[in-house]
Amino acid sequence: MTSPTRREFLGGALALISAASIRLPLWAQTVASLAGAPAAGPLLLGVDYYPDQTPEALWEEDARMMADFGFTNVRIAEFAWALMEPAEGRFDFAWLRRSVEILHKHNLAVILGTPSAAPPPWLTAKYPDIVEVNEKGERLHPGGRRFTCPTNQVYRRLSLIIASEMARTFTETQGVIGWQIDNEFTLGSSQRCYCNYCQAGFQTWLRSRYGTLDNLNQSWGTVFWSQTYTDFSQIPVPLPSGGDPNPGLALDYDRYQSYANVSFQQEQLDMLRKTCPRHFVTTNNVGLVDTINMRDLYEKLDFTAFDNYPGFFDMLMAQQGRMGSSAFVSSSIALGHDLARSVKGGKPFMIMEEQSGKAGQKTFSPQPEKGQARLWTYQAIAHGAMGVNYFRWDTATFGAEEYWHGILNHDRSKSPAFDEIKQGVRELKALGREVLYSNYVTDAALVFDYDCSWALAIQPGHFRLAYLDQIVSWYGAISASRSGIDVIGPEIDLSAYKIVFAPVAYVMSEKQAARIRSFVQGGGMFVTNFRLGVKTETSQIVRTPLPGLLRDVMGVTVEDYIPVYSAKNGMKFSPALAGPDSECVLWTDILQPAGAEVLASYTMGAHAGQPAITMNSFGKGKAVYIGGDLNEASLARVLRTLSGMAGVKPPLEVPAGVEVTVRKAGNKQWIFVLNHGASSQSVNLPAAFVDLLSGEKLTGKIDIGAYGVRVLQS
Ligand SMILES: [Zn+2]
Repeated sequence: MTSPTRREFLGGALALISAASIRLPLWAQTVASLAGAPAAGPLLLGVDYYPDQTPEALWEEDARMMADFGFTNVRIAEFAWALMEPAEGRFDFAWLRRSVEILHKHNLAVILGTPSAAPPPWLTAKYPDIVEVNEKGERLHPGGRRFTCPTNQVYRRLSLIIASEMARTFTETQGVIGWQIDNEFTLGSSQRCYCNYCQAGFQTWLRSRYGTLDNLNQSWGTVFWSQTYTDFSQIPVPLPSGGDPNPGLALDYDRYQSYANVSFQQEQLDMLRKTCPRHFVTTNNVGLVDTINMRDLYEKLDFTAFDNYPGFFDMLMAQQGRMGSSAFVSSSIALGHDLARSVKGGKPFMIMEEQSGKAGQKTFSPQPEKGQARLWTYQAIAHGAMGVNYFRWDTATFGAEEYWHGILNHDRSKSPAFDEIKQGVRELKALGREVLYSNYVTDAALVFDYDCSWALAIQPGHFRLAYLDQIVSWYGAISASRSGIDVIGPEIDLSAYKIVFAPVAYVMSEKQAARIRSFVQGGGMFVTNFRLGVKTETSQIVRTPLPGLLRDVMGVTVEDYIPVYSAKNGMKFSPALAGPDSECVLWTDILQPAGAEVLASYTMGAHAGQPAITMNSFGKGKAVYIGGDLNEASLARVLRTLSGMAGVKPPLEVPAGVEVTVRKAGNKQWIFVLNHGASSQSVNLPAAFVDLLSGEKLTGKIDIGAYGVRVLQS
């Protein structure tokens, strides 16, 4: 594979800017500054590297090997605070500069991580109250990582100082192209901090949100249990208190904690924009953790960067007693990618950490099966990624992550996935920038609303009802139709879609209801289920019959809402949704149609024969209410049938276990076909295609090998 010329390299960067709408000054100037580094290119096909954990004698060899491998960039330094600031105010970046220079000499561009996820011991010894307090009111202890309070001003000040010193030191350094702020904001052992600083921060945030105490007291209904506040300083955080907290207070505390992390990040971002205007800035997270609103976190960053560990996640599910949850795991991973793309309105994203080997700490997942590491790479690209960084180059022989395996083993021999990942990198370079920066195309969207997730966690109604579980199972059911999905927020205009799915839309604002109403009026299909529109934005229950603000659109009234425990219920379908009866697993809303057509009825108990699924014609569109929690097979069939009614068509018909996505640029189109199974699968092609990976011309019935990939172009 020849390296791109500098002209191609710059051209690619400009294509990237126009395709991804990334802030013009950053990439363009960064790339222009990389004179003599043609191999770095606008491609971000790299690896996470730890010179701080590697003897300096090996840096040169590592850089040479990484360049030989085909990598274009590395990410370094995100956990190296103790080396960069060995004592307060004393900085040492000489080692990091030497590392960057060696990497740059080998045409490897550098993404620098700011180190605030792991403050050093001198810092926590001197300032012990920067450490987070958990939901029981217990202060955590330093010694791990991600143990800090997002509100604490001392922690914020010291984090900004080290990041600023790094930025000043490296802003003009050849080879540095961008920044990762902090590391995995979402992943602490405690989801929220409940310390005194957070309480004060919460009170300030509430003052700005509500203006007056009267407004706040009204909005939360604090007259209940004699909680009327007469001064903002009286407002508590939801720590154990002999009874459940006010739901409005609890929901606002989740919002505040999300805001606190976003505003913590913003301080470093503002500084980086000023000090390093030629560099891009992002941060890395995992997809399905709902502690922080990802749309807020990434709003002002240049692109989304996510970490992806399918094998590790599978192991975690098994550890949590969810053995045999492979459908849940694969849906979660695919959903994580679609969320990463959708968080920035469909702009290409980057995988900052991609699993390359066994992954975990005390316990770890097995080595990915032969073909899986390459398959995961293509899954990211298929869902809209423009770059992939693998975690990690060499494997540490010390520290909490010494079993988190990289591309080199502990003894620096090649890992089992070495050649396969190298092949993937080579192929992606050959596929080229146009594919990597193309758009992902779909007519369907799934609403993922953090307010609903938080509010439902506060009052799930049924101990097993969880918003993320519902989102994942709906995502899996929708993806069975193979027509792609955007994962959107409640604030998004829906007119670009033919069908929009919104399970457990528990909190419904007037603006969101208006957007849904206008979407259906205009001809869209809106599909939702139980607990629709129960709560206002301040977490009060609506004073109208359910489903509240959308009663006219849905054409039904919820006559009763019933969590399902020992008294079971089932559902029988009309010919339009024909299929075997379904069990209703966690919940049943009993529906009273007011103009809506009945598509299924309950089969048991006092409500046998009453409507369970309805479809209402409203304006030019349809609104579907699924009252009961369906089993997996029925949900997939029902949602697939509804997608078909809405006019959504898959690009290819494929068997279960095979994923299909489409990316487009201008009049060019690429169809990604991914076989997630351990045995070969057949697919019938409706026309002639070329497989861009193998160069084969294909027609009719084709095979896709175990964990195999095809990138088809007609
Ligand atoms: Zn705190």
